[in-house]
Amino acid sequence: MGSKFTFSFLARILTVTLISIFVLFPAAADAQGTSIHVTLLGTRGLEDTTDGPFPAEAGVLIEAGGEMLLFDCGRGVPDRLSQLEFSKSGSRLGVAKVFLTSLVADHVGGLPILWMLGWTRRQSTPLAVWGPGPDGNGSPGTASLTANLQVTFSANTRLRRDLIGPVGLPSGGIQVRATEISEGVVYQNNGVVVTAFLVNHDPVKPAFGYRVDYGGHSVVYSGDTTLSPNLIRVARGADLLLHEVFVTPPGNPSGSQDPFAAYHTTPEQAAQVFSQAAPRLAMYTHIVKATSSSSPAELLARTRAAGYMGSLEVGQDLLSIDISDSIKERQPSTCPEPVIAAVTDSNYGQNISSNGTIIVWGSGFTPSGGNSIQLVRDGYDTVTIDENDGSDFWDQSSDQINVVPGGRVPPGDWDVVARNICGTPTRQFQITVH
Ligand SMILES: [Zn+2]
Repeated sequence: MGSKFTFSFLARILTVTLISIFVLFPAAADAQGTSIHVTLLGTRGLEDTTDGPFPAEAGVLIEAGGEMLLFDCGRGVPDRLSQLEFSKSGSRLGVAKVFLTSLVADHVGGLPILWMLGWTRRQSTPLAVWGPGPDGNGSPGTASLTANLQVTFSANTRLRRDLIGPVGLPSGGIQVRATEISEGVVYQNNGVVVTAFLVNHDPVKPAFGYRVDYGGHSVVYSGDTTLSPNLIRVARGADLLLHEVFVTPPGNPSGSQDPFAAYHTTPEQAAQVFSQAAPRLAMYTHIVKATSSSSPAELLARTRAAGYMGSLEVGQDLLSIDISDSIKERQPSTCPEPVIAAVTDSNYGQNISSNGTIIVWGSGFTPSGGNSIQLVRDGYDTVTIDENDGSDFWDQSSDQINVVPGGRVPPGDWDVVARNICGTPTRQFQITVH
C-alpha cells in the first residue's frame, strides 16, 4: 500500500505539471491571435419528431481571445453546455454573452434555463443578451423578452438570492443586460469583433446572422434565412460558414407548396450560397427536415449535384472546429456512463475524513483525466472537486479516482456524484465523512 501511494504522489506531481503545460500553451496561442474555437451545441430546427436521438435546437459556442460567446440558445443548448462543463477550459455553462438571431422558439427556448441555471457559474456577472428589436407588427424585441423573463421567474430569483441565507447567490448574476441591435459591429473586446447582418427570414424580421472575426480568422453563422445576398456578401472568403438548411423532399426540391421552404434555404439554394461565398469550410447546422428519411449523405449529395464542390460538411451536436492557419475538427467524444462501486479512505476502509484522501472506485471514468467529483448535502450544499483546481485529484487508473478534499468537506452525510470528461454523471453514492 505504501508503494501504491508513493506512486500516487509522483503521479500527482506529474499530472499537475502536465495540466500546467496544457493551460499555458493555449494562453500563448491566444496571445498570438491565431485561433477561433467553435462548438456546435445544437444542430436541429424546431421539430416535433419521434425519431431520436434528439439533437438540440439552434446554438453555437464561439471562443477566441479569452472571450466565450453563445449564438442562439434553443432547447437543449444549456444541456450541451453542461456536457462541456468539465472540459479543461472551464465552465461553459457560465457563458455570459448571448447573441440571438431571432426571437423564435428554437433560438430562445433554452434562454430561461441558461439564465437561471448558469447563475451558479456566472455568480456576480450579469447575462448580456444582444438580439433583434420589435418587428413592427406588434411583437416586442429582445429587451422586452428579457425584462419579462425577469418578472416571470421572479419567484426563483427571490428564493435563490434572498431566502436561503448565507448560501444565496449574488444579485449580479441574475440581472440581464439587453441590447437591441441593428446591422454593424455589435460587440468588440479582446480583439474579437462581432458583426450583425440582416438576413431574409420574412415574415420573421428583423432576423440577423453574425460574423465573428479574430486574429485574421472569421466565422459566419446564418441564423434562419432563405437565400440571402447580404449573407453571401458578408461571408465571402470566411474561414467557416455555418448555414441553416431546410431539407425539402427529393421529389420536390424547391419546396413548392411548403410554407416553411419559402423562408428557409433548400440544399440547392445553399449550393449557390456556398459557391458564391467560397468559405474555406462550409458546414450545415440548424438542419430542418421536411422528411425524416433524409440522411447527411443525401444532403451532401444534393448540394454537390447543385454545383458546389468546395469543402462541405454536415454538423452534429458537440462537433468542435479549431480555426487557425489550418481547420481541425474534433468529433464529439463518446463516453460510457460511469458507475461508482465503492468510496473508501486511503486504507480502503470507511474511516473517511475531511482531511484525508477519499478514493472513488468504479468504472467509466476517463483515464487521461478531466473527471470531477461532486459532494452534495441536503440537496443543496455542494462541493465540486475537479482537475481545474490543479491538484485535488488525479486518476491512478481507469477504475479509481483519488480525491484530496483538503478540509473542504465538513463532517456529515454526503451524496457523491462522479462525472467523466463528457460530463456524464454517475448515480449518487452515499458516504459519511468523519
Ligand atoms: Zn430556426
